Amino acid sequence: MLVDSDSFLSPKRYLLSLEKSLNMLLSPIHNLIAALSTIPFSHASLTGLTPCDALISAGLSDRILTPLSPSYSTQLLTWYNTATRRHPWCIVLPHTSLEVSLVLTTLSAVGSGAGDWAIAVKSGGHGNDASNNVDSGVTIDLQYLDSVDYYEHNGSASIGPGARWGDVYKRLGEQGGAVTGGRDANVGVGGFLLGGGMSYYTGRTGFGCDNVINFEVVLASGDIINANATSNDDLWRALKGGSSNFGVVTRFDLEAFPARNLTYGQKTMSTEYEEEFVQAVFEFVERSEEHVNDALVPYYSYDAASEEIVMRAITVNTKAEPNTRAFDKVDIIPAIEPGLRTEMSLAEAAGGTLEGVVRGISFTLTFKNDLSILRRATELHHEYVIQMSELIGASNFTTLNFFQPLPSYFGAIEHRKVGNMLGLDHVNQNNILWVLGIGVLGGEDQQAIAHAKGANITAMVHDFAESVGGGNDLIYLNYADASQDPIGSYGLENIQLIRDAAAKYDPAGFFQQRIPGGFKISRVSSCAGTPCNH
Ligand SMILES: Cc1cc2nc3c(=O)[nH]c(=O)nc-3n(C[C@H](O)[C@H](O)[C@H](O)COP(=O)(O)OP(=O)(O)OC[C@H]3O[C@@H](n4cnc5c(N)ncnc54)[C@H](O)[C@@H]3O)c2cc1C
Repeated sequence: MLVDSDSFLSPKRYLLSLEKSLNMLLSPIHNLIAALSTIPFSHASLTGLTPCDALISAGLSDRILTPLSPSYSTQLLTWYNTATRRHPWCIVLPHTSLEVSLVLTTLSAVGSGAGDWAIAVKSGGHGNDASNNVDSGVTIDLQYLDSVDYYEHNGSASIGPGARWGDVYKRLGEQGGAVTGGRDANVGVGGFLLGGGMSYYTGRTGFGCDNVINFEVVLASGDIINANATSNDDLWRALKGGSSNFGVVTRFDLEAFPARNLTYGQKTMSTEYEEEFVQAVFEFVERSEEHVNDALVPYYSYDAASEEIVMRAITVNTKAEPNTRAFDKVDIIPAIEPGLRTEMSLAEAAGGTLEGVVRGISFTLTFKNDLSILRRATELHHEYVIQMSELIGASNFTTLNFFQPLPSYFGAIEHRKVGNMLGLDHVNQNNILWVLGIGVLGGEDQQAIAHAKGANITAMVHDFAESVGGGNDLIYLNYADASQDPIGSYGLENIQLIRDAAAKYDPAGFFQQRIPGGFKISRVSSCAGTPCNH
C-alpha cells in the first residue's frame, strides 16, 4: 500500500515528481541523439546489414552483437525455449531508456521502412513462438535494464524489464521489500507484467499488472513518457495485459510490501488418486476467498525419463501461517514424495535458475471450476501422452496439465485496482486457468507433431467445457499459443481501449508492422468481443 500522509509522498505527488524528473531528462534528448549520431565509427565494424549498420552509425556499436561476435551464441542461451533461440542479424543491448529511445528512432528511420526484416523485443525471453526473437532482423534485448529499487517510505519498487524474478526477490529482499511477481526465478519482469502476471500473491494483491502504478515507456517516436493514474492513464490501463502494442516499457513502478518469509511445499502423488486430486483442486478454488494468503499450483506432469504421469501440488502460504487449513484435501492424498511445507524466503521459493532445454509449446483455456471439466481435461491429457508416445517416442517429450485457480474474486481485486485488460471484473463464476505445457526434446519435426496434437486436445477440452456450459472466453496471454487470440478475448470495451491506445501512442503502427512478434491488436478481428464472433 502506498502511504498517503504529509510526511510521505502521496501516490499523486510521487507520480508528479516522476514526471518532473522525466521532463528534465527529456529536453536534452534530441541534442543527445544528435550528438551520439555524430560519434565517429569505424567502417571496419559495419556489417553490411542496413539496420545493424544504422545502429552502429548511431553510436551503438558497443551495444551490438552479431553472429561474428564471440558472445553471440552465449547470448542466445538467455532465451528459455530452445525454439525461440533464433539468429537475428544483430542483437542490440541498450543500457538505459535513452539508449532504447535511440535504438527505436534509428530503426524506425532505416530505409524508410523498406526491406523484409523485423524487430523483436525481449526481456526475460520466456515467451514462445516468434514473440521475442527474429531470424531476419534485429532483436532488442533489454537484459541490462535490470534495476531493482525498493522505496519503503511510500511502499513502492522500481524494476527494470530485463530483471528476472529470482534476482528481483533477492535484491528487494536485501532492501526489505517484496512485490507481486512471477513464481519461477528465471522468468523475466517485462513479458510477465505486460501479459497479466499470475503470482503466489494474486489471491491478495491481484495479477502482477494490477500492482503497476507507473510504466515508463519509450514510444516509436523516441519520446519517453510515463503512464499512470494521472498521466496517460489510457496507456496505463492498456498496458495491463495489452503487451507489446504501444512501446517498449523501460521501467515498472510497482506497489510493494515488506518482505516476509512464506511456507512452500511441493508434493508428488500417484495418478491412482486422480479423483481425490481433482476434488481437492475443485474445493480449493471454491473456498479460495477464505484463504487469500494460500496459493495452490496443481498439475499433472509427464516425465520423459520415467515415462510416467504423476500429479504434483505446490502449496504456498504467503504469510508463513503454520496452521492454514487451505490444503487439507491435498495433504490427505498419499504422497510418492512428501511435500512438507517449510519456511523460506520468496527468493528461495522461486527456486534456482532453470536452463531451458526443450522446445516449449503452451496452449491455454479458461473454464468453469467444474468437476466434469477437470476430469475430462485429465482424461484428454492422458490420451495426449499415449498418442505422443506412439508418434514421437515416449522419451522425447514432457507435459504439464496445469489447473491454475482463477476464482471470481480475482476480478473484484482487479476492479478495485482500476482494472486490467483481462476482463475478469465481469466474471461471476469461479474458473480454472488451464494450461497444456509441452516440452519437446527432439527437433522441429517432433515439435510440429506435438503442436498439432496439442491444438487438437485443446480444442476438445474447449468443446467439452462449452458443452456443459462451463466455457469462458479468456485466453491468458502469457500462456497462449501463437494460434490463439488472447487480446481478442478481453471483451469489446477493453479491445477498443487497446485499439485506441495503440493508434494514439504509435500512430505510424511501428509496433504492429515492424515489430510483428507477439499478440497484436491490428490482427484482432473487428468482430472480436461482439456477438458476430460466435
Ligand atoms: C518456466 C516458466 C514459468 C512461468 N511462470 C509463470 C507464472 O508463474 N505466472 C505467469 O503469469 N506466467 C508464467 N509464465 C509465462 C510468462 O509470464 C511469459 O512467458 C512472459 O512473457 C515471460 O516474460 P519474459 O520477460 O521472460 O518474456 P519475453 O519472452 O522476453 O517477452 C514476452 C513478450 O513480451 C514482450 N515484451 C517483453 N518485455 C517488453 C517490454 N519491456 N516492452 C514491450 N514489450 C515487451 C516481448 O516482445 C514478447 O512479445 C512462465 C513461463 C515459463 C516458461
